[in-house]
Amino acid sequence: AEEAVIDLAEFARAHGVKYFMISYTDLFGGQRAKLVPAQAIADMAVEGAGFAGFATWLDLTPAHADLMAIPDPSSVIQLPWKPEVAWVAATATMEGELVEQAPRNVLRRLIDEAAREGLRVKTGVEPEFFLLTADGQQISDPFDTAVKPCYDQNAVMRRYDVIAEVCDYMLQLGWEAYQNDHEDAVGQFEMNWKYDDVLKTADKHSFFKFMMRSIAEKHGLRATFMPKPFPGLTGSGCHAHISVWDLDGKRNAFADPARELGLSEPGRHFLGGIMTHASALAAITNPTVNSYKRINAPRTTSGATWAPNSVTWTGNNRTHMVRVPGPGRFELRLPDGAANPYLMQAVILAAGLDGVRTKADPGPRHDIDMYKDGHTVQGAPKLPLNLLDALRAYDQDPTLKAMMGEAFSSAYLKLKTDEWNRYCSHFTQWERDNTLDV
Ligand code: GLU
Ligand code: MG
Ligand code: MG
Repeated sequence: AEEAVIDLAEFARAHGVKYFMISYTDLFGGQRAKLVPAQAIADMAVEGAGFAGFATWLDLTPAHADLMAIPDPSSVIQLPWKPEVAWVAATATMEGELVEQAPRNVLRRLIDEAAREGLRVKTGVEPEFFLLTADGQQISDPFDTAVKPCYDQNAVMRRYDVIAEVCDYMLQLGWEAYQNDHEDAVGQFEMNWKYDDVLKTADKHSFFKFMMRSIAEKHGLRATFMPKPFPGLTGSGCHAHISVWDLDGKRNAFADPARELGLSEPGRHFLGGIMTHASALAAITNPTVNSYKRINAPRTTSGATWAPNSVTWTGNNRTHMVRVPGPGRFELRLPDGAANPYLMQAVILAAGLDGVRTKADPGPRHDIDMYKDGHTVQGAPKLPLNLLDALRAYDQDPTLKAMMGEAFSSAYLKLKTDEWNRYCSHFTQWERDNTLDV
C-alpha cells in the first residue's frame, strides 16, 4: 500500500506523543534507540539522531563519524502501553550516505531489487518464546510440567494476563492478530498476526519483540527468544511464511493450482534458491552459537524437536526445512528466535531472487518423517552443525554475499567470527569431566 507521508511533529500533536524512540537494529538484532522529545523531532527528522559508531554493534571503530539515524515516518508505532511514546525505525546514515551494512538498509535495497524484477514479497513470521522467571534461569509457571505440553489449555490460561495484553495491543495497532498458543516446550508460547509486505513484517517483528519483553517485564517475567534455552526441550523457532506477489499486491505469483502442491514456476524457483543457499543462509537465520543446539538437537521429551537438520522440503509435514502447507506459499522452518528481523527477510529475499534469476530447481520433495530413521535423506545436505560451519558456508557463497552487499557481508562475518572465537575461549565443565583422566 502506498503510505501517506507522515509528518512526525504533526503526528505527535495529533496523538499526544511526548517522546519518540528513534530506533535502529544492529548486526546482532539488538534494537538501540534515543528518546527524543517531540519538540526536537522536526530537526531530528532531517539530521537524524546521533550514535557513536563504536558503540553501535555495527563494524565501526572509535574513529568513525557518528551514525545518524533518520526516522522513517512510515514505520511509526505509538506504544499502546505507554501512548506518550512512539517508536520509529530509523535509516542509518553516516556523513550523508546510507550505511550499507545496517540491517534495515540491506533489506530495503533487496526489496527495491526484487521490485525491479516485478516481484513483491509478503511474509508472515511465527515467533516462539519462553516466559521465564525475572532472572531468566527457569520457566516461571510451577504448574507447567506436562511431558507433551503443546496447546495446554490450563497453561495458556495461567499466562492469560500477559498474552491477552499483548494480543489486545496488536489488535489495537491493526495487525490482525489471530491466534495465541502454548507451544511444545513447557514455558513456551507463540503469538500470530497476519502476514504483510516484507518491510512491514520486519518492523512489526522488531516491535513485537520489544513489546513482548516490555509487557512480560511489567508482569514480573522475562520473555526470551533464545533459540534453545533448555536442553531436552524444543527450541524457539521463528518460521517464515513466504509468498511473492505482483507489484500491485493483488495476484499471488506463487499460486498455480495446476502445479505440484499449488506452487507456481517462479515459486518453485524461489524455493530452489532457498534450497541452494540454505547452508549459507543459516548464518543469518540461525545467527548464534546457541542456534545450532536447536537444529541439531536429539529428540526432546515431547518426542519431536520440530526443527529441521537437513536441507529438504515437503508438503504439509513439519519435519523438514521447508513445508508447503497449501497452494501459493511455503514455510521456511529454519529461522530461530535470535534471527535479526531485517536480515532474516533480506537473506530469504536474496536467496529466492537468485533462485528466480537462475531458474533454480528445488530438487525432489521427500514426504517422509524426518524424525525417524536417523533424520537423514540420502543425498540431502545436512544443515551446518555450528555457527562456524555456517559462517564458512556464507563466506563461500559469493552470490549470496554480493546480494546481501559486500560491506554488510564482511562486517557480519567479522563480528560473528569474533563471537565464535569468544565462545571458543570459554572453558566448560564438560571438557574437564571428559578430559581430566585422559
Ligand atoms: N519449536 C519448533 C521449532 O523450533 C517449532 C514448532 C512448530 O511447528 O510450531 O522450530
Ligand atoms: Mg510454532
Ligand atoms: Mg510454523
